[in-house]
Amino acid sequence: MPRLAVIGFPVGHSRSPAMQNAALQALGLGEEWRYEAIEVAPEGFEARVRAMPGEGFVGANVTVPHKLAALALADVASEAASEIGAANTLSFAAGGIAAENTDAGGLLAALAGAGGAGSSPGDGPAEVSGRRALVLGAGGAARAVCWALAEAGAQVEIWNRTAARAEALVADLHAAATAVREPDGGSYGIVVNTTAVGLHGEDPFAELPLSPRDFSSAQTVVDMVYGERPSPLLEAATAAGAATVDGLEVLVQQGALSFEIWTGVAPDLDVMRVAARGTAHR
Ligand code: NAP
Repeated sequence: MPRLAVIGFPVGHSRSPAMQNAALQALGLGEEWRYEAIEVAPEGFEARVRAMPGEGFVGANVTVPHKLAALALADVASEAASEIGAANTLSFAAGGIAAENTDAGGLLAALAGAGGAGSSPGDGPAEVSGRRALVLGAGGAARAVCWALAEAGAQVEIWNRTAARAEALVADLHAAATAVREPDGGSYGIVVNTTAVGLHGEDPFAELPLSPRDFSSAQTVVDMVYGERPSPLLEAATAAGAATVDGLEVLVQQGALSFEIWTGVAPDLDVMRVAARGTAHR
């Protein structure tokens, strides 16, 4: 039986098992394939991964805090994973361990599906090209977001509470983005919150350099944070007529890309959405 997993520390909160198993079931693969959650601390990560092919695993998603280590142990890596400096998807084949980063493609797929401001649904990365994008945050999630937006042709500006971290990310991305200290939130076509603000009910407009008045129907606003209800950031953006993308849609899209890498088949996105939303934190 081919096995799949998400590896993290902790991993109990992950929606990936529900989402991926639902996709396998919908394609009639549920009897054969199984997707599970594996919790392993950083010191045990490499040994655990190297044992997986012998246990019938054909691939794995990798989440916090292992994405850098996943890239480091791979025999081959995609351009996206190499340039982002992190992998969220591993595949095990006779030739060794392959690393991919579907967080980047997942964000672009979610943006393409959002339509709205200056785009048509299905336009793909073209709707990103030429637009100014403000990325809030410079942590792990920001790396893939900034790389994806820059690769798709956006002019990316990074704001971070700790400014030095934004500058370090700019350097890591070989200046494909710039750092900004006092962004004018209303001047961007795309705004992406990759900070953890909102995860525990914080007021985004108190913590981030944005005001609800910045949003307009000319914008697409993404909040990588997800929970049971729409985030206050996305509520304000929606009220202003902006196109919005929530963190669960990005999660579903990255998971769908990983699924296709392992199985060779495109999953049913709606099945994955329902499963991911049905396992909201409670
Ligand atoms: P991380 O590496 O720990 O980075 C956290 C970021 O949040 C840093 O930029 C940090 O700024 C900023 N931050 C934290 N508290 C803040 C505050 N009160 N005010 C302003 N900035 C604050 O975390 P991560 O892995 O990037 O994850 C960030 C969020 O994205 C999490 O909520 C995570 O669940 C979500 N996420 C979603 C997806 C998805 O698929 N939807 C994928 C990955 C992550 P400093 O540098 O100043 O500390």
